Formats: sequence, C-alpha cells, structure tokens
Amino acid sequence: MISGLSDLYKLQKQGPKKDIETPLVNAIFRMYDKFPRLGLNERIGQQDMSLDIADAYIHSRNAMIEAGVGIGKSFAYLIPSLLINLISQQPIIIATSSIQLSEQIHKDLRFIGSRLGFSSVRSVVGKGMGQYACRYRAADLIKTGDSSSSLSTLAQRIVNYDIDERADIKGGVSDVLWSNVCVNDCTFERCQYKSTCSFYEMRAKINASTNAMDFIIVNQDLLIRDLIKKKEGSKGLITERPALIVIDEAHNLEAKVRDARTLEFTFRRTCRILDDALQLLYKQSADKSLFTQFKWLKKCVSHIFKQVEADLLQTANQDNDRIKVSEITGIPLKRGVQILKEFNLSLSVLTSRHEREIDNIFEAMNGLIDLFEVLAGVEDNYLIWASKTQREATVSICPKGISQFLKHSLFNGKTSVILTSATLCQSGETLEEQYSYLTQSLGYKGDYMERQASPFDYDYHTMMYIAKDVPYYNHKNREHYLEAAYKELIRLCNLTVGRTLVLFSAKEDMKYVHKKLNAEKLAWTLHVQREGSSQDGVIAEFRGSKGVLLSTGVFWEGVNIEGSDLSQLIIFRLPFPVPSDPVYEYKASLVENPLKEVFVPDMLLRLRQGTGRLIRSETDLGVLSILDSRLSIAAKKDYRDKVLETLPFKRVTEDYKILEQFVEEKGISIRQ
Ligand code: SF4
Repeated sequence: MISGLSDLYKLQKQGPKKDIETPLVNAIFRMYDKFPRLGLNERIGQQDMSLDIADAYIHSRNAMIEAGVGIGKSFAYLIPSLLINLISQQPIIIATSSIQLSEQIHKDLRFIGSRLGFSSVRSVVGKGMGQYACRYRAADLIKTGDSSSSLSTLAQRIVNYDIDERADIKGGVSDVLWSNVCVNDCTFERCQYKSTCSFYEMRAKINASTNAMDFIIVNQDLLIRDLIKKKEGSKGLITERPALIVIDEAHNLEAKVRDARTLEFTFRRTCRILDDALQLLYKQSADKSLFTQFKWLKKCVSHIFKQVEADLLQTANQDNDRIKVSEITGIPLKRGVQILKEFNLSLSVLTSRHEREIDNIFEAMNGLIDLFEVLAGVEDNYLIWASKTQREATVSICPKGISQFLKHSLFNGKTSVILTSATLCQSGETLEEQYSYLTQSLGYKGDYMERQASPFDYDYHTMMYIAKDVPYYNHKNREHYLEAAYKELIRLCNLTVGRTLVLFSAKEDMKYVHKKLNAEKLAWTLHVQREGSSQDGVIAEFRGSKGVLLSTGVFWEGVNIEGSDLSQLIIFRLPFPVPSDPVYEYKASLVENPLKEVFVPDMLLRLRQGTGRLIRSETDLGVLSILDSRLSIAAKKDYRDKVLETLPFKRVTEDYKILEQFVEEKGISIRQ
C-alpha cells in the first residue's frame, strides 16, 4: 500500500464522489510534500492546477486550464490522475497532439508514478494505425516482388523484426514509401503475424476491460476517431468508462477534429471505391449493365478531377494549401448522386462471409455520395477544398461545424474532461473572455480555471526585437519582402553566431531562404526541415551544432531545446491564417469582425506556441526576433497591443543597437 493513502484505499469505489473530496485534496498535498525529499522541485502553479483537476473530477465538471511554459504541466495533471485512478479503479485517458508528446508523457508517468510510490501502474501508448508497420503487407510485397529497391529493403527490415513502428526508422521515411507497408486494414485473427505485431498488441491493451488498464495515452487523432466510431454506433476501441479524460495541447483540438472528420478523395482512390463496389455487386447479381453505369460514373469522376487539377494549377503560387473548388459544370452531378445511392442501397442488403469488407465499401460509397452532393450543391453542411497531397490532386470535404459533435461526444457530462495547454487564452477582462476564442470553436461547456503563468524570468532573460524596416508582405511585393527579410535574417543569425530556430508560416518562404543561404559562405551550420524527415531526427542534428534551423509546420510546437543551443527564435512572418482558406473563410462568415474575432486570435495562439520554443528553463537566455514590420510602432496596427499584452516578452525594441547591447551584455553569442 502506498504510504499515507490508506484513507483513499478505504474509499475505493464507495459512495458518492463528494465523500472523497477531503481525502483526495489531502492526498494531493501529501504528494507535493514528498517533492523535496525526492529531489523534485515543485513549480509555482503546479499544485493549484492539480487541485483544480481534483475539483473538476469531484464535481463531475469539465475544466479548461492554461498552464504556462515551465510550470510542470504534465506532473500537475498526472498526480491527481494517479490518485483518481487509485480511488475509482477506472482508467485515465490522456490525449496529446503528437506521438512525441505521448511518449514523453508515458515517461513522465513512469517517473512520477514510481517516485511517489505508484509502482504498479499499468499503461499503454496508443498511436494511429498508420504509425505501425504491417508485417503481413510487407511479406506480401516481398512475395509478389512488386516493389522498388528502397521499398523492398524497407519491407525486408519489417519482416526481419527490425522495424515495428515508423518511429523505429532513424532519419525518417517518406510518406509515399511508408504508405505501402503501414497498417491500413488489419486482418486481425486471421493474421499469422499477430503475436509479434505492435499494432495488434496496442489495440488489445487499449481495448481491455475497464479495470485492466490504468492509463491510456493516445494522440488526439486516435481519441477523436474513436469518438466518431462510437457516435456512429460502432464499438469503439478505447474503453467506454474512463474516470477522467485529459486533453493536453488542447489548442489543437479543433484542427484535429476537423482532420478526423475530413474525407479525402484522389482520382485513384475514387476509382478504387467504384471498382470495389462494382466487383461486389456483380458477384451477387451477374448483371452486365452494371459495367456501363460504373463506366459512366468513372467518366464523371475523371471530369471532376480534371477541373480540380486546373484549379490547382491556377493557384499554384498562392500561400494556401487548401484552395476553393470552382463550380463543376458539364456533368449531371445530381444524376450521379441518384445512381450512387441506388448502388449503396443494393450494397446495404448484401450478405456475405466478408461482412467487414462490405461495410468498408458501403462506408466509402457513402462518403462518395456526400462528395457528389456537396459538388452538386444539394448538401450545404460541408466545407470543400482542393489540395495537392503527395503530388496528387485531392478533394476534401468536412462538416462545417464541429462544436455539435464535441458537445455530443466529449463534453456530454459522462466523464470530466480537462483541456490544458500553454496557449489557450487571449487578452480579456474576465477568464471567460480570455478563453472565449477556443471555447466557441469547440462548443466547450465547463469551468474556466485561473491561468497558471510561466515561472520563467522573461524580463531579465529575454528581449524581443521587431524588424521595423522590412517592408510589409503582400502578394505583389513578395520578392521585395523576401529579399529584405533574408538580409535581416543573416544579420541576426550572425549576431548570435547561429543558435537560431527560424519559424516560417509558408513553405515557399522557407524554400526561398534555404536556396539563397545554400549559396552563401556561412559562419554557422545550416539545417533545414525536409519532407518526411522526423522532427526528432532534425532536432538531434541541430542540437549541439550551434547552427541555424529553418522549419515550419510542426516545429511551431513541441520543440524543446534547453540551453545555449537555442538562443534566438526568428519568426519570419506573423502566422495569420490565409483568408481565402475555406475553413477560415467559413469561420469568418460567422462573425461580425473577422479580423478581430478570428484572424487575430488565431494568429496569437500560433504565435504564442511558436515563441514558447525559446525559453525552456530558468537559466535560458534568448532573443525573439520578428521580421514582420506590421508589429512596429509606425504601422499602428490594433493588434500590436494585443501581441505585446499576450506574449511574456516585456523588453521590446525596434533598435538593432539595443539588441546588440543585450546580446553582448548577456554573452549570448559566446555561451557554451
Ligand atoms: S495483425 Fe494486422 S496489422 Fe499486424 S501484421 Fe497482421 S494484418 Fe498487419
């Protein structure tokens, strides 16, 4: 028995939750009392956050808690979670936004659990199926000899038990190559490799009975896909009865829900859906007229994708990844909807030994009906856009609102849900106002907890520099902007002698800078994020090199480099969403003042995430440089005040000389 917790053991599974309030709160205090003896430092705000979580659990409420960088957020929620699991004998679900973070939380759980005496905690990390290697598929590729040399080497390594998951591949692997060997439709019981399959093992663990697992740590995608399945009436993978759900990095939840609810169609995938449906229906009916009807449907699909390709070509140089799909003309889309519906009706009454296969095809055909309906203008509840994914034109559809889904599936009062992150808030008078941008998008119902500020001394250790002379960016003067920003970037990287992470909002900007830097003789090592390379691999190369890393996308989050290896963070452009992006266009259409109510709050959340990469410990020193003169005093933008109010950097200058003095005074360029 864990010392000092006998009163909690007595309360296991007994009586109403309010009876355990005092023992639970006392137990949290006792856990933190142990910290000095265990050589752990309690951070300011950590205990308060633990108590807030306990309170939410006791009163069966949801809670939103912003926890500043450095307060030790994961211990703050793991400690009450360990106790709640002990009392309730029900698992705790923790959902994060990345695999790296899930692994880190798993390590933290084992560490803090064992230090505090919870040595027998049973836990599992669950990732999305695409992260696991499928030995069955790899063996099949080798058998058929149907693979390129790099693919056959990869398949061989999987069959030889050298690779279980994508993360096992040092230096990363491209999405295209990996898509041939990852799990995409497990045959489960029939598979000869199941006893050595990491995916199969993970699935069995997170699907175990309620009291067989204490902690289930998954990424948000997996949790959301599971909620979708349950909402559609299927049996989910993750336990139905957790004691508590903690969603870490909750600022990503909206995007993750949108991703999970988005259906993507490429020309090849759409034809495959039609081929599969035809094969099944013909097997049952032997009706030759089916071939003519499917041929006609494929013609429509070809027409749609030709038009989408043309749209993509026209907008190839724009900033946005997602572009609008122009009206499809020249084919009777409504007739297409009707025929697809008739076929799906026939599929719904089919019976066969391969029920799973029929279900999958039926579901895919349903998605195709939705696509045709959206294109035909019959269905108005979806957003639609086109993009290039793995060099293929892709059309995506996604339900417009996500808040109803979350209200029904997550914030439904069955289990307390804790949403936390270092960046949930904006400026505002009341807590409700500060949390309002996210709560409105998510349809959140629950409590707003006191924000726990970062304990780091930003005033003394940091300076923020705004490059006032770089011209404004807009589409027409892109070259002019890039040239000036590039020169400023070199000057700044030379000032700190490398040790710099550069965050770009647009891949094209990063490519431009990388190409130019490659042609220069530089005083520091240059690193760049490459497509398909793992974030960990790139960071490992950067760490210790005192170089400069050019990055975008996921690097705005989850980069944790303490010490002098990272002494400067450059934001190349303020991370505003692209106004013509269909998702943001829709969000803007719902409010009176889109700049104030959507674009600025969104930019602020992302900016806070990005700038949070700079100071990761009490002793870190650093410079935040923003190469976007819209933030300068002279630009007189309303959002300048909001940015300055929201970011923790309080020493702000537009004078390069003052920045030089700061760098020299703190010895930033010579720190080891
Ligand atoms: S159990 Fe499923 S995922 Fe694992 S190797 Fe077999 S088919 Fe692939």
